[in-house]
Amino acid sequence: MPLIVQKFGGSSVSDAEKIKHVAQRVLQTQAEGNQVCVVVSAMGDTTDELIDLADSVTTDVTGSREMDILLTAGERISMSLLALAIKELGGKAMSFTGFQAGISTDSEHGSARIWKIDPKRIQEAMAQGNIAVVAGFQGFSFENGDTTTLGRGGSDTTAVALAAAMNADICEIYSDVDGVYTADPRVVPRARKLAQIDLDSMLELSSSGAKILYIRAVEFARRHAVPLRVRSTFSADPGTLVYTSKPGEEMEEPIVSGVATDDTQSKITVIGVPDRPGKAAEIFQIVAEAGANIDMIVQNVSTTENHLSDISFTLPHSDRPKVVDALKGRQSDVGFASVTYDDEIGKLSIVGAGMKTSSGVSAKLFGALAKAGINIEMISTSEIRISVITRADQLKEATRVVHTAFELDAADTAVVYAGTGR
Ligand code: ADP
Ligand code: ASP
Ligand code: MG
Repeated sequence: MPLIVQKFGGSSVSDAEKIKHVAQRVLQTQAEGNQVCVVVSAMGDTTDELIDLADSVTTDVTGSREMDILLTAGERISMSLLALAIKELGGKAMSFTGFQAGISTDSEHGSARIWKIDPKRIQEAMAQGNIAVVAGFQGFSFENGDTTTLGRGGSDTTAVALAAAMNADICEIYSDVDGVYTADPRVVPRARKLAQIDLDSMLELSSSGAKILYIRAVEFARRHAVPLRVRSTFSADPGTLVYTSKPGEEMEEPIVSGVATDDTQSKITVIGVPDRPGKAAEIFQIVAEAGANIDMIVQNVSTTENHLSDISFTLPHSDRPKVVDALKGRQSDVGFASVTYDDEIGKLSIVGAGMKTSSGVSAKLFGALAKAGINIEMISTSEIRISVITRADQLKEATRVVHTAFELDAADTAVVYAGTGR
């Protein structure tokens, strides 16, 4: 019997009516002759609300043992309600926490990585005719059994990892839009739905801020060759197939598949760094010790007589305070003049596998931004991506003009069925 893993995001289970609708949908999939494993996220904005609640009793809401226990409660509410709703409709269902589903992880609270999955109990439940409902985003530490979470958006990872562990025929990610679009439809109303996208481009879009699929889930899908489809809970649209080309059957790739935006980054500039071997290493060693993930780096060539240069880099907003503090604490050792930061930046990226073999893509991107009077502050590229930093308040306009310049606009407006976009 074919096995399908279906993941329903927060906006798909945000109230009782939606949960009942999901119950009908998964029963329908089972009635069509499939074994069904369902992964659910917390209802609506529950995770954000739990973080806000914690924020009112502590100043430290970053990943910790207690925060993880708190946040996993959200997914446990939806898993049990969905199982109850399926039973109410006459179906058979059993819900499972991350621990019961056999999902073991490392001990990195707040962003744990899956170590191993033992899906025995889920498989038994499905073999007995149940729909297995699994709480997304959670696991348990293989070191000490503590409850862990997989990072924001991590229910996608749960679904893909379970699909890989059980060798599912397909993993379907159900959300509040019809699939992967050429841009976030909340930012670009004329974004176009893609019938398919290659995994490499999807990986770049996710890592550049397109939260329709969580980056770690896409990495997992690539590593384990899990067939993925992104589609809507609220329509019958077939959605977007995320595919891996097999050697010899590469399709002709679009030059630009999509535009992604990220408004969650800050920029730090270290001013007056002695232009000598080893100085960049010292600075980024301090950043690494502070535990930050950096993204773009730019070093200005020293032109002054005293051989000093400036180094700028970007990182998530949440990491900015600790990195600025760490750098200030080591200022005299390294010998730089000062540190400044800027939280008002936005990152725009264009992604496309066809860029590898096409020239003039950057000229077109920079030209479109120039025409709209938008200044570029930093640039970085990969083989299939170009990213630029702009002012945060110009990011949305920048995205729309770039989308139009690359002829990605659709004739009609995209539909966003639910969700607050939080
Ligand atoms: P879920 O609750 O289902 O996990 P998310 O809010 O995490 O949903 O992701 C869905 C949202 O991702 C969409 O509502 C949309 O605003 C946003 N999004 C960003 N980039 C894209 C894109 N390229 N295609 C589709 N949606 C996108
Ligand atoms: N509920 C978690 C979050 O909001 C996980 C998920 O939705 O994928 O990040
Ligand atoms: Mg999501």
